[in-house]
Amino acid sequence: MRYGSSRLAITQQPTNGLRLYAHCMAAVHAQHGVVRIPHTYAHAYDPITRQLITQVINDHALRLVIHAPIIPPSTMQDTLERCAQLLSDIASHDGVIICHVPAARTNDEWQWMASLPASITRYLAVEHTLQPIDALLSAAEEFTIPVVFDWLHYHMLAPWPYAPVDVALKCCATWGSQRPLIHLSTPDTADYGNQHRHINGRHAAYLDWVTHMYFLGQLSERRAPTCDIEVEADAGSKALAHFLAQCRRHGPPQWHHLWA
Ligand SMILES: [Zn+2]
Repeated sequence: MRYGSSRLAITQQPTNGLRLYAHCMAAVHAQHGVVRIPHTYAHAYDPITRQLITQVINDHALRLVIHAPIIPPSTMQDTLERCAQLLSDIASHDGVIICHVPAARTNDEWQWMASLPASITRYLAVEHTLQPIDALLSAAEEFTIPVVFDWLHYHMLAPWPYAPVDVALKCCATWGSQRPLIHLSTPDTADYGNQHRHINGRHAAYLDWVTHMYFLGQLSERRAPTCDIEVEADAGSKALAHFLAQCRRHGPPQWHHLWA
């Protein structure tokens, strides 16, 4: 498994490819294998910069993940084209572009995404956010676009029966021969009083790492395929550092490691 966090300590807006290179190097320094990059990095860079970035992602087996803006995919074809072009330019073979599909337009949007050229669809995935998971899973099967299981969004929808491991396994199965990507994060408790936000589920800066070690332990007991884990928490969080260190030390986490 590779792990990474969504927020690295690089705050400047990218002005050239060296910023993307620096972002990758910051991930290497933090011992992350999954690197979330803003879609604002998606530009055509000069050949030498491209080569540098290709080399760093190859040397360190970095998986780049671009989160597209949270708007219907059909309204941002140019953004998706730019992101796919970047991943192709830097030979990011397992790169992912994550889309968010509004619950009310699930079918239209999936159909639209599936009609894009293969040079884009090969990178696309849809994050489970507010839709009923069954609708997403059947769309994933029909249109062969994988689903990113997001523990937080699943949890915040308070489904019953509550079965995050079962659902995560089903999401993993939508990835075919690609390595599945999973999001882990902890609800921001400042949002609990706000009905609207409660449903949306904001990420906390910190990580309730015991919950996630348990979840990953359950996945490994259920023989989930090897996944990549993107932790949506602040890179500076001590809990995140502890979680990543535990995961690195023990490989796929097992519950008893917590107490060993
Ligand atoms: Zn997420």
